[in-house]
Amino acid sequence: MILIGLTGGIGSGKSTVSLLLAGHGAVIIDADAIVREVQQPGSAVLDKIAERFGEQMIAADGSLDRAALAAVAFADDQAIKDLGKIVHPAVGAEMNRRVAEAALTDQVVVMDIPLLAENPRPGLQATIVVDVDPELAVSRLVEFRNMTEEDARARIAKQSPRDKRLAIADRVVDNGGDRDELAAQVEVVWHWLQTLPQIRESPLDLTTKTEPPA
Ligand code: ADP
Repeated sequence: MILIGLTGGIGSGKSTVSLLLAGHGAVIIDADAIVREVQQPGSAVLDKIAERFGEQMIAADGSLDRAALAAVAFADDQAIKDLGKIVHPAVGAEMNRRVAEAALTDQVVVMDIPLLAENPRPGLQATIVVDVDPELAVSRLVEFRNMTEEDARARIAKQSPRDKRLAIADRVVDNGGDRDELAAQVEVVWHWLQTLPQIRESPLDLTTKTEPPA
């Protein structure tokens, strides 16, 4: 496989780039999607969430009540830490499993990790950062993703600044243009990715948290 990381701020177009790469044949490992997957009804993770935060975290249909969890978990630092201790190891183990499986193939494996700048993964062969002016991100989030402007701005403000993400980039995809321009850049990146060496073993352990270099 060829193992790369993909990141970008909210509204940068990271999901769109991920879809374009998948269209070229990349295997996408999406951290957010795996978080939802490990919290499916009946999962060990969901049981632990109910044990720590109360049975009211589980809706009548057995699924996680995300709004209820957000209300309690984001209320204090200890609660967020406890939630992370429940969810992160399960997500990391599932990501490890998928990377190990893909390592046996010649595929390009894209780790889609929103907080890659905060949690660097040194084993990645390259990191692609999708970059956009935050003002344009706000207007796209409002126009296409039904967010209020206030919410979009608050979410962007909570993230690392743009230059911190750019600092970890081997390739930057500039999403300041239209969708065709984005697709053209992704195509160039795709061809460049093919030139990277194949590796046969995963260099990552995604169950561990990494700290940014000092
Ligand atoms: P992210 O995953 O980084 O939060 P998305 O890929 O969801 O961002 O992009 C945010 C919104 O902007 C989506 O609705 C997407 O379809 C739209 N979008 C992305 N790139 C462009 C572009 N170049 N031109 C217009 N709209 C875009």
